[in-house]
Amino acid sequence: MATERTFSIIKPDATERNLTGAVNAIIEKAGLRIVAQKRILMTRAQAETFYAVHKARPFFGELVDFMTSGPVVVQVLEGEGAIAKYRDVMGATDPSKAAEGTIRKVHAKSIGENSVHGSDAAETAAIEIAQFFSGNEIVG
Ligand code: ADP
Ligand code: MG
Repeated sequence: MATERTFSIIKPDATERNLTGAVNAIIEKAGLRIVAQKRILMTRAQAETFYAVHKARPFFGELVDFMTSGPVVVQVLEGEGAIAKYRDVMGATDPSKAAEGTIRKVHAKSIGENSVHGSDAAETAAIEIAQFFSGNEIVG
């Protein structure tokens, strides 16, 4: 399997509880390398663009409110099969359905406030990385 990069967000419910390091420990233990990372306040415009695919969903407004409610940590993760691997490490969207030991099982509060985002495919990973990082900010 090829070395890939995926885009990750540590969401406001996790930064609020001071869990950045705890989440990063799970990421690194899974064999993923954090090759870019910054703590930002997402603007509404950034959140609306980022989650545009969900614009018609009933939870869209709530999701944008949540993602702009506090600091997030945006990251690029690198490793063998990083996109699928990080989805496994994150666990299911709904933490009550997430597997034992996954970030969402261990830390998420609810289906909305679920601690992390990870890209779902190579195309979305490239788009998401480019929304938040320029090439020279990523050091593999
Ligand atoms: P994932 O983050 O696992 O890829 P989705 O792409 O389906 O999940 O949804 C994006 C985000 O929208 C979720 O991580 C979660 O924060 C929020 N979300 C999804 N479904 C719901 C829901 N039913 N109610 C509230 N928020 C939701
Ligand atoms: Mg998704």
